[in-house]
Amino acid sequence: MEKNIRKQNVYVSEEEKTLSWSEVQISLKKNFGNEIYNSWLEKMTLVKEYNDYLILGVPTRFFRDWIVSRYLDKIMELLKGFKLSLNRIEFKIIDDSKQSQEALKINDFNSVAEIKDSVLNYNRLNQNLNFNNFVQGKSNDIALSYSRKVCEHISRYNPLYICGGVGLGKTHLLNAIGLELQNDNNVMFISAERFMYHFIKSIKKNDMVNFKDFFRKSSVFIIDDIQFISGKESLQEEFFHTFNSLMDKGSQIIISSDRSPIKLERVQDRIKSRLSGGLVVDIETPDLELKIKIIKKKIEEIESQFKEKIILDDEVINFIASESKTNIRELIGVLNRVIAFGRVNNKELTISDCKKILKDVFSQIKVITVDKIQNVVSNYYNIALSEMLSQRRSRPLARPRQIAMYLAKKLTTRSLPEIGRRFANRDHTTVIHAVKTISRLSEQDDEMKKNINQIKSILIEQ
Ligand code: ADP
Ligand code: MG
Repeated sequence: MEKNIRKQNVYVSEEEKTLSWSEVQISLKKNFGNEIYNSWLEKMTLVKEYNDYLILGVPTRFFRDWIVSRYLDKIMELLKGFKLSLNRIEFKIIDDSKQSQEALKINDFNSVAEIKDSVLNYNRLNQNLNFNNFVQGKSNDIALSYSRKVCEHISRYNPLYICGGVGLGKTHLLNAIGLELQNDNNVMFISAERFMYHFIKSIKKNDMVNFKDFFRKSSVFIIDDIQFISGKESLQEEFFHTFNSLMDKGSQIIISSDRSPIKLERVQDRIKSRLSGGLVVDIETPDLELKIKIIKKKIEEIESQFKEKIILDDEVINFIASESKTNIRELIGVLNRVIAFGRVNNKELTISDCKKILKDVFSQIKVITVDKIQNVVSNYYNIALSEMLSQRRSRPLARPRQIAMYLAKKLTTRSLPEIGRRFANRDHTTVIHAVKTISRLSEQDDEMKKNINQIKSILIEQ
């Protein structure tokens, strides 16, 4: 027992290291497929191995956010296969130029510098994410207006819970609220991930009293990405107490999540019900009009910041907006690439330039939806979509249906129940069965493997 406690906070020694990163990489590649692996996971490095957690290096914040929001659960699951005692993964941003030096250091076990603040900045509000530069549209109208109202009337909507997919502006709104309120209130702004980091650190240092005081003294408590508490029992417990004590003293609580409270998985019911007890507002995917407005706003910002004129034809703006389908973070990334290209080549860009520039961007970050999978699979097998979704069980319909479910699970972030619903309201157990069947067949049957790869490449190219 004592030995375990002592080991909690130390690196594992050379003999105790269980991870072979190259084996992990092979497994990541196999499980996520080449596309995702090459685009995202290959650049992940092992920075440090502890007995119960790992620190992984990624090149940018964007990478980290992308990996955490889409692949972390699965990576965790996979890594547990290599290291049973693992219960946490942290990320450290290591920019490319430093990466090789860092890798060298890692080999030299004793010289690894202590890693400070490896996760997110906390309580450091970003001045650039404010209400002035948050562009309003149909998809975020309600979330924006209640975010403003919270600033006018503290505690009227308590908690305010903002949900929506990756890159749609949740953190931006939370930040804007924090900035607005910070002059007159004790604002605490933290991600759930960071909250956990402090929690664990305090347990290890036997310093829970300070932890509790620290968080419970805020009058505005803003917590980002609460879905992170999923499956973490003791963290949920602590969060629940913090939440209750803040509510009791009338503090305003603002929460963001990638899904609504009821859809949080592996979260205690009493927490879900607490989270739904105030006001829940949604941010949806932006329509074309909002995307165009955002592009124009960004261009204005860049022009005033860099004192330069950016000339982008309306047609080109339209093209970027309509091609970028996933989220606003991606949209801004794409716009930045186009602008950078224009700068370097000192020319006004045409749509065909844009197509060239963006070809690789889109193929990397193209989002594959359940609808698209259903269409491509039914086309591939030459059956009507309605038949593929129907209740008929004949093999020529059932197999493609299962393949589509399997791909939906593998290539989208949808949960099993969500996928079931998209397939004419089937139960999630049917989806599990389909995923298992096709996983097995694609390992045993070369024909099946080939078909699935072809379908995947159609999905990626389209
Ligand atoms: P989330 O937290 O939902 O994943 P973020 O708040 O990080 O998303 O938003 C991603 C990027 O898109 C940020 O750069 C943010 O400033 C920008 N963004 C999102 N929505 C808007 C908007 N309505 N107007 C301007 N910028 C936006
Ligand atoms: Mg966010």
